Amino acid sequence: MLKVKAGEKRTPQDLRIDLIAPCGMNCGLCMCYLREKNTCEGCRSGDKGKSKSVLSCTIRKCEMVPESNLRFCLDCAKLPCPRLKRLDARYREKYRMSMLENLHAIRENGTEKFVESERARWRCSECGGVQCVHTAECIYCGYVWTTTILAG
Ligand SMILES: [Zn+2]
Repeated sequence: MLKVKAGEKRTPQDLRIDLIAPCGMNCGLCMCYLREKNTCEGCRSGDKGKSKSVLSCTIRKCEMVPESNLRFCLDCAKLPCPRLKRLDARYREKYRMSMLENLHAIRENGTEKFVESERARWRCSECGGVQCVHTAECIYCGYVWTTTILAG
């Protein structure tokens, strides 16, 4: 299990609005953002630190996003498209998150309220660090919040 040095600890305050990808995932929860080396600054930044799977992500590269100036998939006439449904199903099953739920929360309450609720949801109750969506335990203090999540 990858552990991140305490000095590098990120808190839920780091879950900024500009880290929310078009699909509704907050990139601040991603291991690629939280790890110490070759960090990725999120789907809305360049290709640095991105894994093959992210570089080939069909949602990040979706032709609808630049074409119609969409901020989120939420604004797309094709929502929910098959690619987003597949991604959502994978994250529901493997991790503790749903892109579609996130998008609906953004629609209901706006991005600021959504980020506020995420800051409460993804805070480690033991150490106050931000939880990584891809791990079953806190990357800072090792606190295990669930035993049902498969390691990413
Ligand atoms: Zn912790």
